[in-house]
Amino acid sequence: MGKRPREERFWDRVRETGDRENRSATLSEQLLRILRTASQYSPAYREIFSSAGIDPDHLHGLEDLEKLPILHMADLVSRQKTAPPFGGFEIREESRKPRRIYINPGFIVQPGELDVGDRSWAEALAGAGFKAGDCILNTFNYHLWPFGFIIDEAAKMIGATIIPTGPGNTLMQIRILQSLRVNGYIGTPSFLMTLTQRAEAMGLDLKKDFALETALVAAEMLPHSLRDSIETKTGMSVRQAYGTVFIGCIGYECQYKTGLHVPDNVIVEVVDPETGKHAPPGMTGEIVATNFSASYPMIRMATGDLSMLGQQVCPCGRTGPMLTKIVGRIEQAAKVRGTFIHPWQADEVISHYPEVYKYQVVITRENHVDVMTFVVELKEETARAEMIRARIERDIKEHLTIKGLVRVVPKGTIPDQHKKIDDRRSWD
Ligand SMILES: [Zn+2]
Repeated sequence: MGKRPREERFWDRVRETGDRENRSATLSEQLLRILRTASQYSPAYREIFSSAGIDPDHLHGLEDLEKLPILHMADLVSRQKTAPPFGGFEIREESRKPRRIYINPGFIVQPGELDVGDRSWAEALAGAGFKAGDCILNTFNYHLWPFGFIIDEAAKMIGATIIPTGPGNTLMQIRILQSLRVNGYIGTPSFLMTLTQRAEAMGLDLKKDFALETALVAAEMLPHSLRDSIETKTGMSVRQAYGTVFIGCIGYECQYKTGLHVPDNVIVEVVDPETGKHAPPGMTGEIVATNFSASYPMIRMATGDLSMLGQQVCPCGRTGPMLTKIVGRIEQAAKVRGTFIHPWQADEVISHYPEVYKYQVVITRENHVDVMTFVVELKEETARAEMIRARIERDIKEHLTIKGLVRVVPKGTIPDQHKKIDDRRSWD
């Protein structure tokens, strides 16, 4: 792979900006190939497909995705327990040993190869603005977990120099930033903020004393305010990416920040978590992704993260699918009358009412209909309580698009360690 100039901002411009039908045809071929390989060489997939009545030779391509079972992390973990260490998801085509073995939190084991995961991250790095010749601080952990290494390999693919610092050692990292004229940062947004705050406290001029230009942040949410603050203070461009260590990169921002571009070698679906069927366009659902790893493929793996597929066209020229931002984790959201309600949405409604001391959303079911109630404690008793109640109800309808009730309760009613959304429905 040759060196890539900065203006290009693509890993593979031809494929990333190519014709949609061609892309679908290529992905269909790749999908069929990985399904055949998996059912032939991976004992876990062979069993999963055969118990679902799936014969890869009878499938045609992307249009058959919904027929395939969804793989949940819990299945992977339980199969790793019964068939250690990799659970039988590995492709046993050859008897070669993996180059590395990673241990993820929860003792989830993963064979490590230079593989498609790194290709998807190389695309994310190029999209974020990294280029050959950059000198990048990689603050992701290199111990046990794979992500530090995966990003390291991806940076090598685009021809950048990496300083493998891992997290922590803030003072040492500031010294490195200064003395080696580092122009790139990879890591969490919160650690980037820690570095800038510490440097400011040391009296450094973040623009003059540092040469920082580009950051790719991942593994945490990136609030607008945090991005603005870092970009203004340092003058660097901060772009975010989303992915999992088993799949690779699933979405990344380009210079236009219009959403998350899905890398060219990953299939991303947004599904209704209850049925596994595709969510209608513009609706929130769980992200399910498939990669074509030759050693440890993940086929329809559920991420537990919620997003929606966007319809927008990005000025950068990429033609692949886009996810809007990640809106939350599935276990924190509740589906009420067909619509996902997230804690952050409820916060947004309540944030307009400084009179509110504490609140909780309670979901119940009455006469087979979901009922959403915002239980609210006010800071002090007021004659305006009824007016506040009615206004919040109006705002709920407006912001969350479904009707909700508001009940004002005496202070001390909501328990201290309360869940923001308390789903009290029972389905038996
Ligand atoms: Zn774009």
